[in-house]
Amino acid sequence: MSDAKGSLFEKESRNFIENIIVEDLTSGKHAHTITRFPPEPNGYLHIGHAKSICLNFGMSASNSGAVCHLRFDDTNPEKEEEEYVQSIISDVRWLGFDWGEHLYYASDYFDQIYTFATELVEKGLAYVDLQSGEKIREQRGNLKSPGENGPHREQSVAENLELFCKMKDGGFQDGEAILRAKIDMAHPNMNMRDPVLYRVRHIAHQRTGDKWCIYPMYDFIHPLSDALEGISHSLCTLEFEDHRPLYDWAVDNTSVAAKPRQIEFARLNINYSIMSKRKLLQLVEEKHVMGWDDPRMPTVSGMRRRGYTSESIRNFCETIGIAKNDNIIDFGLLEFHVRESLNKTAKRVMGVLEPLKVTITNWEEGRSMEIDAPFHPQDESFGSRTIKLEKTIYIEQSDFLKEPPSPRKWFRLGPDRSARLRYGAIIHCDEFIEDDQGNVIELKCHYVEDSFNGKTPEGMKKVKGIIHWVNASDAQEVEVKLYDRLFSVENPESDKEKSFLDFINPDSAKTLNALVEPEILKIPATEQIQFERMGYFVQDCKLSTSDKPVFNKIVGLRDSWAKVKG
Ligand code: ATP
Ligand code: MG
Repeated sequence: MSDAKGSLFEKESRNFIENIIVEDLTSGKHAHTITRFPPEPNGYLHIGHAKSICLNFGMSASNSGAVCHLRFDDTNPEKEEEEYVQSIISDVRWLGFDWGEHLYYASDYFDQIYTFATELVEKGLAYVDLQSGEKIREQRGNLKSPGENGPHREQSVAENLELFCKMKDGGFQDGEAILRAKIDMAHPNMNMRDPVLYRVRHIAHQRTGDKWCIYPMYDFIHPLSDALEGISHSLCTLEFEDHRPLYDWAVDNTSVAAKPRQIEFARLNINYSIMSKRKLLQLVEEKHVMGWDDPRMPTVSGMRRRGYTSESIRNFCETIGIAKNDNIIDFGLLEFHVRESLNKTAKRVMGVLEPLKVTITNWEEGRSMEIDAPFHPQDESFGSRTIKLEKTIYIEQSDFLKEPPSPRKWFRLGPDRSARLRYGAIIHCDEFIEDDQGNVIELKCHYVEDSFNGKTPEGMKKVKGIIHWVNASDAQEVEVKLYDRLFSVENPESDKEKSFLDFINPDSAKTLNALVEPEILKIPATEQIQFERMGYFVQDCKLSTSDKPVFNKIVGLRDSWAKVKG
């Protein structure tokens, strides 16, 4: 029976955050956790966010009574849009998580945040500064030298209250006034040198409309939103470590009831990829990709469109774990989990990506053989389909070499070489036909009598190579998109002289006209399938039409031929 406190207590190895939480639950500091995932709706979610989602929502599944909130940190109306809100909602759901009743918007707290700001002014802990931005920057000092107090710092509470009210009532233009915390202009942590709490922005907000012309800063509203929701552990990425003193200051100096604890963990970085929403937006706006959900994008929607399963992303996030130090994870690890996940569920079918015509010379004209082929060779529960074998078929161009290496190294076709057709007979290549450029355009082969059902006729050497194929008369034409890494270098952001755009992989998308067996088009378009030997594929939900199905390559199989090509 599971512990009443939940699976967190039974886990064999816990990360440092889970250890803190177990301590807090054991000591009775909290009865259960309340965590939150707080995206700013200014872009689509990426795989880094998925890590944070798995951590926060994962916590709510692992100790009884726990919940995880989804909260939109929508305090910056210039950059935020409803489209992003909707995409985030659908991505978190798709990842398999549920916030129940707990969907919140930081903008819903604007009234309360304003009251807390007023409270700080009344306590002499905040003041309105009317200096120019330039002047304020000058007074801030830098990491080596302390800042200095400005002239508005010693204004009376009454004056500050009046000015803050005037800010709220539209008495100032953008940039003319800010509300600042009164902490310490000489504080070694720059974030504590009288940070800005509110700024004037005469801009409508997507949810509150024209009600406000002042908006709270992230560093102020974030801790207070956490506290208002009774968040127990506010988990965020390492760049907020330096902001933690301000987080605590805001919670300690206002009359919010709860005292959430901020804990930082390392961001997820993946090689050949970028994780900044600003840069991802640039890729979209400048049309380097088809959109936020381009199958090459590191976004959740891109990965979903590509055909990744949510299970594979969750397992990936579980494997990489939670650490205190930044590091870069290999893209291959994510692909490993995608393969692992699809291996369990995908039907095996045949598709030829780069077709090469084969005429079976000793096959009677008009003869059509029906073969019952299982959708999964090891698992009967997948069922089977019927495929036809006739005189003309297509095989993969790469399964024939004019000058193959020795038969001990090359098990596929070549002049005077044999290979077995998957679920079919052994064929032997007697002749190849070339076009003017020397490209092989057709093979003439004969099939070996009595070699169906995996049999080898007496006296014949066992044929090791098994190749996939499609029957010419009923093969269906489809488009196949092969995607490679979006960037051609491991860290596209490390070169200070160049833009990350300079490292976009020019060969990251390739389109092929492929031939597939007709049964494939009867499988629901949303279902991932395996083209035997070629990898996992799924129909592209945006590009595919019933006239011209378009398949995305999700991920290759482990290249079983790498050894052979050696
Ligand atoms: P930007 O991409 O501009 O840095 P952001 O990704 O931090 O912005 P938010 O919407 O604020 O955007 O992120 C929501 C949550 O996701 C935050 O708690 C943040 O810490 C977390 N998060 C963002 N990027 C990553 C990442 N690469 N790895 C883990 N968590 C992340
Ligand atoms: Mg952020």
